[in-house]
Amino acid sequence: MTNKPSILLVYTGGTIGMIKDYKTNALKAFDFDQILDKIPELQQLNCNISTISFEEPIDSSNMNTKYYIKIAEIIAENYIKFDGFVVLTGSDTMSYVSSAISFMFENLKKPVIFTGSQLPIGDLRTDAKENLITSIEIASAREKGEPIIKEVGLYFEYKLYRANRTTKINAEQFEAFASMNYPPLAESGVHLHFNKHLLLQPKNSEEELIFRKNLINDVVVLKLFPGITQKVVQAIVNIPNLKGIVLETYGAGNAPTEAWFLDLLDKTIKKGVHIVNVTQCAGGSVLLGLYETSTNLKKIGIINGKNITTETAIAKMMYLLGENLSKEEFKHYFELSLRGEIN
Ligand code: ASP
Repeated sequence: MTNKPSILLVYTGGTIGMIKDYKTNALKAFDFDQILDKIPELQQLNCNISTISFEEPIDSSNMNTKYYIKIAEIIAENYIKFDGFVVLTGSDTMSYVSSAISFMFENLKKPVIFTGSQLPIGDLRTDAKENLITSIEIASAREKGEPIIKEVGLYFEYKLYRANRTTKINAEQFEAFASMNYPPLAESGVHLHFNKHLLLQPKNSEEELIFRKNLINDVVVLKLFPGITQKVVQAIVNIPNLKGIVLETYGAGNAPTEAWFLDLLDKTIKKGVHIVNVTQCAGGSVLLGLYETSTNLKKIGIINGKNITTETAIAKMMYLLGENLSKEEFKHYFELSLRGEIN
């Protein structure tokens, strides 16, 4: 019997799981079942670690909703048995998948920490070890017998972020992620410092975990640019079976005021397609009605994405589309913070 927290490490793929064969210089997949032998430092952590790996690890460019469900099922099936979860994916789509998982679990009371790395775990200068070790520490961190983190986080390069606030901002630097509209939940330096006032607390501690896996992916991102033509917008809004559009507008939610553009959006909303206004800016918020260029969007019933990221808007759309909501309910829930993703 041991009081040490037990942590489940879920390896799905990505650079972190690669090891260099120094004789041939080639990168090859690392067997995560042997992780404790390969990274003996992990044995110094005050927790018991178990691992589950995808049979065929994937590059995160191949991530899709079937894999979201597979990851979420692994967590759901092991939820009672473990105190915390660390999910390793490639960093390229980590913000999308971790956001989706944040919506799929309601009343989460245990930490689910996503991490990865820019260099393979077997590389001499790797960032993988720090990311992995600190993520496990965060997933095991407890206070008065309770986990400190009770939400889905993303840890990279000394910072823990709320996963559904993140964006990958750099393809080369170790500091690959940013959370422009919400401060880090924890920072790792000499001490591991949790910003406790920023953490999500379950609304009702008695409520059981609810796992929802009905994701609908008939969605599209329409990014505006000066000179966008009617033909292009028309082709997008007429995609067969389309259910939702994440419209990336300018600045504080502004879009062209030309009649053809507004008419197309108006007809599309009337057809039952949900359109959410998010800003192309990395930080800041949509403020519908601040400028004349967004007043019309408000009038036709566009959903205000406020300061949600595009990655999270897509994840939230897939999740809410699976909930069979009326048009009004969909707008209501989209504009509401469900997992701390918007304010
Ligand atoms: N292409 C890799 C992936 O996202 C990059 C990484 O692991 O960071 O799977």
